[in-house]
Amino acid sequence: GKMILSGKRYESTASEFQTSDAPVEKYEYQAEVSRLMDLIVNSLYSNKEVFLRELISNASDALDKLRFLSVTEPQLLEGSSELDIRIQTDQENGVITLTDSGIGMTHQELVDSLGTIAHSGTAKFLKALKDSKDSGSDSNLIGQFGVGFYSAFLVADKVVVSTKSPKSDKQYVWEGEANSSSYLIREETDPEKFIPRGTSIKLHLKRDEKGFAHPERIERLIKNYSQFVSFPIYTWQEKG
Ligand code: ADP
Ligand code: MG
Repeated sequence: GKMILSGKRYESTASEFQTSDAPVEKYEYQAEVSRLMDLIVNSLYSNKEVFLRELISNASDALDKLRFLSVTEPQLLEGSSELDIRIQTDQENGVITLTDSGIGMTHQELVDSLGTIAHSGTAKFLKALKDSKDSGSDSNLIGQFGVGFYSAFLVADKVVVSTKSPKSDKQYVWEGEANSSSYLIREETDPEKFIPRGTSIKLHLKRDEKGFAHPERIERLIKNYSQFVSFPIYTWQEKG
């Protein structure tokens, strides 16, 4: 179900949405996604750091797709020829931002990818969950199957995705919050936030997980995963 709301009248804690004149669209998650999100948000799963592996792997997939397509369509690289992943930590505000210059998402791709369950591993996860008689076993299942993008909600209570596909003239912002059955999409209208291509994922860390924005902690985790990634990963810190 889709609902158009005025960007100005809409009242929420989503401050990034209130500063824009663009209309805000509100969507309900597919029921399976809501179930998965509930589970992730309320999980006692202790290996929360897997969120970074999942998001780096998505960034790497998006860069792979772009590299592959650019062989026959070199114009896709226009505006930015760099293929890399940038991870910014803002310790003061407890925010981590992962940016890739990959293929990005169109409006339709955003709705299809970050509102439904397309991912086979996640579908298997839900099947396993349904099959498991012991409802307390979810903690193990998260680690066993991986929960993709939604693993961001292991550590974040708000996730803001800004994305620009070379197939679209427009850049879109997606925002989801833990414990909500809906998410928001609007067009990016602030030129200061325009990116030539790719996706930026901003994690507003939960109160108890702000330690992940510690630069040394994030760099240690990146070292573990970066050996499997064929694109450079850069890190930097927001100045205090
Ligand atoms: P999977 O990676 O197994 O497909 P995920 O839940 O990790 O499942 O991601 C779901 C989908 O969201 C991806 O298949 C992709 O289409 C889209 N997506 C996620 N992150 C990005 C990104 N950084 N750039 C472009 N598309 C992305
Ligand atoms: Mg993935």
